[in-house]
Amino acid sequence: MQGESLEKETPEQVYRRVFQELKPRTAPPPILVQYRSFANVNSFIEFKEGRLLVRISDLLRQAPDSVHEALAWILLCKLFRRRIPGRHKDRYRRYLNKGEVVQAVEKLRHERGRKPILPPAGEHHDLLRIFDELNFRFFHGLMSQPVIGWSRAESRHILGHYDSAHNAIVLSRILDREEAPAFVVEYVMYHEMLHLRHPVERRAGRRCIHTPEFRKAEEEFPALKQAKKWMETVLWRLSARR
Ligand SMILES: [Zn+2]
Repeated sequence: MQGESLEKETPEQVYRRVFQELKPRTAPPPILVQYRSFANVNSFIEFKEGRLLVRISDLLRQAPDSVHEALAWILLCKLFRRRIPGRHKDRYRRYLNKGEVVQAVEKLRHERGRKPILPPAGEHHDLLRIFDELNFRFFHGLMSQPVIGWSRAESRHILGHYDSAHNAIVLSRILDREEAPAFVVEYVMYHEMLHLRHPVERRAGRRCIHTPEFRKAEEEFPALKQAKKWMETVLWRLSARR
Protein backbone atom coordinates (compact mmCIF):
# COMPACT_ATOMS: atom_id res chain seq x y z
CA MET A 1 0.00 0.00 0.00
CA GLN A 2 2.95 2.31 0.47
CA GLY A 3 3.37 5.18 -1.95
CA GLU A 4 -0.22 5.09 -3.15
CA SER A 5 -0.78 8.67 -2.13
CA LEU A 6 1.99 9.63 -4.53
CA GLU A 7 1.39 9.35 -8.22
CA LYS A 8 1.95 5.74 -9.18
CA GLU A 9 4.42 5.08 -11.96
CA THR A 10 3.14 3.26 -15.02
CA PRO A 11 5.09 0.10 -15.93
CA GLU A 12 6.57 2.02 -18.90
CA GLN A 13 7.83 4.73 -16.53
CA VAL A 14 9.49 2.14 -14.31
CA TYR A 15 11.35 0.68 -17.32
CA ARG A 16 12.30 4.15 -18.56
CA ARG A 17 13.70 5.10 -15.14
CA VAL A 18 15.75 1.91 -14.82
CA PHE A 19 16.92 2.31 -18.43
CA GLN A 20 18.19 5.79 -17.59
CA GLU A 21 20.00 4.56 -14.50
CA LEU A 22 21.75 1.90 -16.55
CA LYS A 23 22.41 4.09 -19.62
CA PRO A 24 22.48 7.70 -18.42
CA ARG A 25 23.86 8.97 -21.75
CA THR A 26 21.36 7.22 -24.01
CA ALA A 27 17.92 8.60 -24.66
CA PRO A 28 15.45 5.81 -23.87
CA PRO A 29 13.40 4.64 -26.86
CA PRO A 30 9.62 4.43 -26.66
CA ILE A 31 8.79 1.59 -24.30
CA LEU A 32 5.81 -0.74 -24.45
CA VAL A 33 4.97 -3.14 -21.63
CA GLN A 34 2.46 -5.92 -22.30
CA TYR A 35 1.04 -8.72 -20.20
CA ARG A 36 0.88 -12.05 -21.97
CA SER A 37 -0.69 -15.33 -20.94
CA PHE A 38 2.40 -17.49 -21.10
CA ALA A 39 2.23 -20.98 -19.62
CA ASN A 40 4.91 -19.99 -17.10
CA VAL A 41 6.41 -16.93 -15.46
CA ASN A 42 8.86 -16.13 -18.24
CA SER A 43 9.17 -12.52 -19.30
CA PHE A 44 10.92 -11.12 -22.37
CA ILE A 45 12.50 -7.88 -23.50
CA GLU A 46 13.65 -6.89 -27.00
CA PHE A 47 14.17 -3.96 -29.30
CA LYS A 48 11.56 -4.13 -32.00
CA GLU A 49 10.78 -1.54 -34.66
CA GLY A 50 12.49 1.25 -32.79
CA ARG A 51 10.74 0.41 -29.54
CA LEU A 52 11.66 -1.46 -26.44
CA LEU A 53 9.07 -4.19 -26.11
CA VAL A 54 8.59 -5.84 -22.72
CA ARG A 55 6.31 -8.85 -22.44
CA ILE A 56 5.50 -9.98 -18.92
CA SER A 57 3.67 -13.11 -17.83
CA ASP A 58 0.13 -12.29 -16.70
CA LEU A 59 0.91 -14.28 -13.57
CA LEU A 60 2.80 -11.20 -12.40
CA ARG A 61 -0.12 -8.84 -12.82
CA GLN A 62 -0.81 -8.81 -9.08
CA ALA A 63 2.84 -8.61 -8.09
CA PRO A 64 3.85 -5.68 -5.83
CA ASP A 65 5.66 -2.69 -7.32
CA SER A 66 8.96 -3.77 -5.80
CA VAL A 67 8.77 -7.03 -7.78
CA HIS A 68 8.10 -5.17 -11.03
CA GLU A 69 11.00 -2.88 -10.25
CA ALA A 70 13.21 -5.93 -9.66
CA LEU A 71 12.07 -7.52 -12.92
CA ALA A 72 12.80 -4.29 -14.81
CA TRP A 73 16.37 -4.42 -13.49
CA ILE A 74 16.74 -8.08 -14.39
CA LEU A 75 15.42 -7.72 -17.93
CA LEU A 76 17.31 -4.51 -18.73
CA CYS A 77 20.56 -5.83 -17.24
CA LYS A 78 20.19 -8.94 -19.40
CA LEU A 79 19.53 -6.78 -22.45
CA PHE A 80 22.64 -4.67 -21.81
CA ARG A 81 24.67 -7.67 -20.59
CA ARG A 82 25.24 -6.08 -17.20
CA ARG A 83 25.50 -7.84 -13.87
CA ILE A 84 22.08 -7.96 -12.19
CA PRO A 85 22.21 -6.34 -8.74
CA GLY A 86 21.83 -9.05 -6.12
CA ARG A 87 19.02 -7.35 -4.22
CA HIS A 88 16.79 -7.29 -7.31
CA LYS A 89 17.60 -10.88 -8.20
CA ASP A 90 16.78 -11.93 -4.63
CA ARG A 91 13.56 -9.98 -4.42
CA TYR A 92 12.28 -11.45 -7.66
CA ARG A 93 13.28 -15.00 -6.75
CA ARG A 94 11.75 -14.69 -3.30
CA TYR A 95 8.47 -13.59 -4.83
CA LEU A 96 8.37 -16.51 -7.27
CA ASN A 97 9.02 -18.93 -4.41
CA LYS A 98 6.08 -17.72 -2.38
CA GLY A 99 3.51 -20.46 -1.86
CA GLU A 100 0.62 -18.74 -3.57
CA VAL A 101 2.69 -17.79 -6.61
CA VAL A 102 4.02 -21.33 -6.98
CA GLN A 103 0.43 -22.54 -6.74
CA ALA A 104 -0.82 -20.10 -9.35
CA VAL A 105 1.90 -21.21 -11.75
CA GLU A 106 1.17 -24.85 -11.20
CA LYS A 107 -2.54 -24.33 -11.55
CA LEU A 108 -2.03 -22.57 -14.85
CA ARG A 109 0.20 -25.36 -16.14
CA HIS A 110 -2.40 -27.82 -15.01
CA GLU A 111 -5.18 -25.98 -16.81
CA ARG A 112 -3.19 -25.61 -19.98
CA GLY A 113 -2.18 -29.23 -19.79
CA ARG A 114 -5.85 -30.30 -19.49
CA LYS A 115 -5.28 -33.93 -18.60
CA PRO A 116 -8.38 -35.95 -17.89
CA ILE A 117 -8.88 -36.76 -14.24
CA LEU A 118 -8.82 -40.20 -12.68
CA PRO A 119 -11.97 -41.75 -11.15
CA PRO A 120 -12.89 -40.74 -7.57
CA ALA A 121 -12.42 -44.21 -6.06
CA GLY A 122 -8.70 -44.28 -5.42
CA GLU A 123 -6.50 -47.00 -4.05
CA HIS A 124 -6.79 -45.73 -0.48
CA HIS A 125 -9.41 -42.99 -0.38
CA ASP A 126 -12.79 -42.79 -2.03
CA LEU A 127 -13.48 -39.16 -2.89
CA LEU A 128 -17.16 -39.66 -3.61
CA ARG A 129 -17.75 -41.19 -0.21
CA ILE A 130 -15.80 -38.35 1.41
CA PHE A 131 -17.80 -35.77 -0.53
CA ASP A 132 -21.07 -37.37 0.56
CA GLU A 133 -20.04 -37.46 4.21
CA LEU A 134 -18.89 -33.85 4.25
CA ASN A 135 -21.98 -32.77 2.35
CA PHE A 136 -24.10 -34.38 5.03
CA ARG A 137 -22.01 -33.09 7.95
CA PHE A 138 -21.46 -29.49 6.87
CA PHE A 139 -23.93 -28.65 4.11
CA HIS A 140 -27.10 -30.46 5.21
CA GLY A 141 -26.64 -32.71 2.20
CA LEU A 142 -27.70 -29.82 -0.02
CA MET A 143 -24.62 -29.40 -2.17
CA SER A 144 -25.10 -30.79 -5.64
CA GLN A 145 -22.33 -33.11 -6.59
CA PRO A 146 -19.75 -31.74 -9.05
CA VAL A 147 -17.43 -33.88 -11.14
CA ILE A 148 -14.98 -35.40 -8.66
CA GLY A 149 -11.68 -37.14 -9.31
CA TRP A 150 -7.98 -37.55 -8.65
CA SER A 151 -5.38 -35.69 -10.65
CA ARG A 152 -2.92 -37.70 -12.71
CA ALA A 153 0.00 -35.69 -11.41
CA GLU A 154 1.10 -36.04 -7.79
CA SER A 155 1.28 -32.37 -6.99
CA ARG A 156 2.44 -31.25 -3.56
CA HIS A 157 1.78 -27.58 -4.27
CA ILE A 158 -1.83 -27.96 -5.31
CA LEU A 159 -3.51 -30.57 -3.19
CA GLY A 160 -6.90 -29.75 -4.56
CA HIS A 161 -8.71 -27.33 -6.77
CA TYR A 162 -12.22 -26.48 -7.78
CA ASP A 163 -12.51 -25.75 -11.46
CA SER A 164 -15.65 -23.66 -11.86
CA ALA A 165 -15.51 -23.83 -15.66
CA HIS A 166 -15.86 -27.61 -15.57
CA ASN A 167 -17.63 -27.76 -12.19
CA ALA A 168 -15.02 -30.23 -11.02
CA ILE A 169 -13.22 -30.87 -7.75
CA VAL A 170 -9.84 -32.48 -8.33
CA LEU A 171 -7.55 -33.71 -5.57
CA SER A 172 -3.87 -34.36 -6.04
CA ARG A 173 -3.14 -38.06 -6.32
CA ILE A 174 -0.29 -37.60 -3.87
CA LEU A 175 -3.01 -37.86 -1.19
CA ASP A 176 -4.25 -41.23 -2.41
CA ARG A 177 -1.90 -43.27 -0.29
CA GLU A 178 -1.80 -45.02 3.02
CA GLU A 179 0.34 -42.36 4.69
CA ALA A 180 -2.25 -39.67 4.01
CA PRO A 181 -4.68 -39.62 6.95
CA ALA A 182 -8.39 -39.47 6.14
CA PHE A 183 -8.72 -36.11 7.93
CA VAL A 184 -6.23 -34.55 5.50
CA VAL A 185 -8.08 -35.78 2.42
CA GLU A 186 -11.32 -34.66 4.06
CA TYR A 187 -9.92 -31.23 4.81
CA VAL A 188 -8.74 -30.70 1.21
CA MET A 189 -12.12 -31.82 -0.07
CA TYR A 190 -13.92 -29.57 2.43
CA HIS A 191 -11.78 -26.60 1.34
CA GLU A 192 -12.71 -27.19 -2.31
CA MET A 193 -16.37 -27.61 -1.42
CA LEU A 194 -16.19 -24.21 0.23
CA HIS A 195 -14.93 -22.80 -3.07
CA LEU A 196 -18.08 -24.16 -4.65
CA ARG A 197 -20.11 -22.55 -1.89
CA HIS A 198 -18.27 -19.19 -1.78
CA PRO A 199 -17.47 -18.10 -5.33
CA VAL A 200 -14.54 -15.78 -6.04
CA GLU A 201 -15.40 -12.18 -5.31
CA ARG A 202 -13.85 -8.94 -6.41
CA ARG A 203 -12.98 -6.61 -3.55
CA ALA A 204 -11.47 -3.21 -4.15
CA GLY A 205 -10.57 -4.37 -7.64
CA ARG A 206 -8.71 -7.46 -6.47
CA ARG A 207 -9.69 -11.06 -6.80
CA CYS A 208 -10.51 -12.33 -3.35
CA ILE A 209 -10.48 -16.09 -3.37
CA HIS A 210 -10.53 -16.79 0.34
CA THR A 211 -13.02 -14.27 1.63
CA PRO A 212 -13.49 -13.73 5.38
CA GLU A 213 -16.71 -15.78 5.15
CA PHE A 214 -14.73 -18.56 3.48
CA ARG A 215 -12.11 -18.52 6.23
CA LYS A 216 -14.76 -18.53 8.91
CA ALA A 217 -16.46 -21.55 7.37
CA GLU A 218 -13.12 -23.29 7.07
CA GLU A 219 -12.54 -22.92 10.81
CA GLU A 220 -15.51 -25.20 11.36
CA PHE A 221 -13.48 -28.16 10.18
CA PRO A 222 -12.46 -29.84 13.46
CA ALA A 223 -9.05 -31.18 12.36
CA LEU A 224 -8.06 -28.00 10.50
CA LYS A 225 -4.89 -27.43 12.50
CA GLN A 226 -3.72 -31.04 12.34
CA ALA A 227 -4.41 -31.19 8.61
CA LYS A 228 -2.40 -28.03 7.96
CA LYS A 229 0.40 -29.29 10.12
CA TRP A 230 0.52 -32.55 8.19
CA MET A 231 0.72 -30.60 4.93
CA GLU A 232 3.57 -28.50 6.20
CA THR A 233 5.58 -31.43 7.49
CA VAL A 234 4.81 -35.02 6.50
CA LEU A 235 3.67 -34.15 2.97
CA TRP A 236 7.13 -32.90 2.05
CA ARG A 237 8.77 -36.07 3.31
CA LEU A 238 6.68 -38.41 1.16
CA SER A 239 8.68 -39.98 -1.59
CA ALA A 240 7.41 -40.10 -5.15
CA ARG A 241 5.95 -43.40 -6.21
CA ARG A 242 7.28 -45.42 -9.13
ZN1 LIG B 1 -8.58 -22.27 -1.82
